[in-house]
Amino acid sequence: MTSQPRRVPGVLFESLVEHGHETVVLCHDRATGMRAIIALHDTTLGPGLGGTRFRPYADDQAALTDVLRLSRGMTYKNAAAGLNLGGGKAVLVGEPSTDSSPALLEAYGRAVDRLGGAYLTAADVGTTQADMDALRRVTPYVTGTSSGSGDPSPATAWGVFHATLATLAFLGDNVERLDGRHVVVVGVGKVGGALVRHLVAAGAEVTISDIDPVRVTDLAVELGVGIIGAGLAHRVPCDVLSPCALGAGLHAGTIPELACRAVVGAANNQLAEPDDAARLAAAGVLYAPDFVVNAGGVINIAEELGPDGYDPARARVAVERIAVNTTRVLALARDEAITTEAAAERVAERRIEAARIAR
Ligand code: NAD
Repeated sequence: MTSQPRRVPGVLFESLVEHGHETVVLCHDRATGMRAIIALHDTTLGPGLGGTRFRPYADDQAALTDVLRLSRGMTYKNAAAGLNLGGGKAVLVGEPSTDSSPALLEAYGRAVDRLGGAYLTAADVGTTQADMDALRRVTPYVTGTSSGSGDPSPATAWGVFHATLATLAFLGDNVERLDGRHVVVVGVGKVGGALVRHLVAAGAEVTISDIDPVRVTDLAVELGVGIIGAGLAHRVPCDVLSPCALGAGLHAGTIPELACRAVVGAANNQLAEPDDAARLAAAGVLYAPDFVVNAGGVINIAEELGPDGYDPARARVAVERIAVNTTRVLALARDEAITTEAAAERVAERRIEAARIAR
């Protein structure tokens, strides 16, 4: 019998042990003051792919908690999307509008480079395509640059659109056209705005909601869609509610008020609590899990990593696989009488386990 190494007291290792993270790297650069944390959750399927978030975290613990949570999420997203990529994420500590500089980004890029390709970065909240171009000057382990797959938002929107079709088809609808179907899109930014265009082109009736009055009015006038005030959108009777703003919008307060048949949207972490998956099922609402639905961006990026480089037409077809992935998860949930969230996690875990055994 092999003995376990001695466990030392403290929160640091316990944070990694809790969700099985492999590697967490603290990065610092003396000249620029750059501080970052890079976390690799599980690299069984391949190098850890996930964006770099740039935020003024309140303290070290908040930054660590965020990077651990986000990197674990990337393991599940990449695995459920059928990609041979693991889960990774990084956080840069600071206020991007004032603390970012070419020197700081290069220092961070060198930190990414030292991991030798175990971590592949991309843009996330607080970082831009221009930032990825800056990182590319010092490391090849960066995706979503202007010479690569670029902004992932159009691909994410295309994936959400196909997940919406798949979910309605699963409910028994004919989805050749969406005439007669009503979709409420909450948040019409980069992803939500593009999604609305796809839905309108397919014939759907669309109602939009956003806290930005100019954005919502401009889009409504241009496309002739309806508007509903932010905070009321989830109550509108419709076929599909599509959260495309912030996470945690589905909870014990909002779920009983839903008047939709399904929820299919781009926002990350739509469920406020794990119990909300069962709450949705009990309310008779079919929930297409967010990390399956919004994987278009990572699928698009993965196309950049292949031997032939990035091809937009091929990437678009690859993103459409989200329809198959969504249907598989919804069917597994039905067949095994589990929540759709649990089914999506099971699909991801089975892929990782199969790869681990094959090794
Ligand atoms: P974005 O910032 O371009 O758009 C978000 C929109 O939501 C903005 O117009 C904002 O005004 C609006 N908004 C914020 N709070 C709101 C509220 N309470 N009610 C209504 N509207 C509100 O962001 P995005 O890139 O379109 O991403 C949208 C969501 O999808 C985010 O949760 C993001 O994490 C997730 N996501 C995005 C991508 C991508 O490729 N961009 C990929 C995966 C997941």
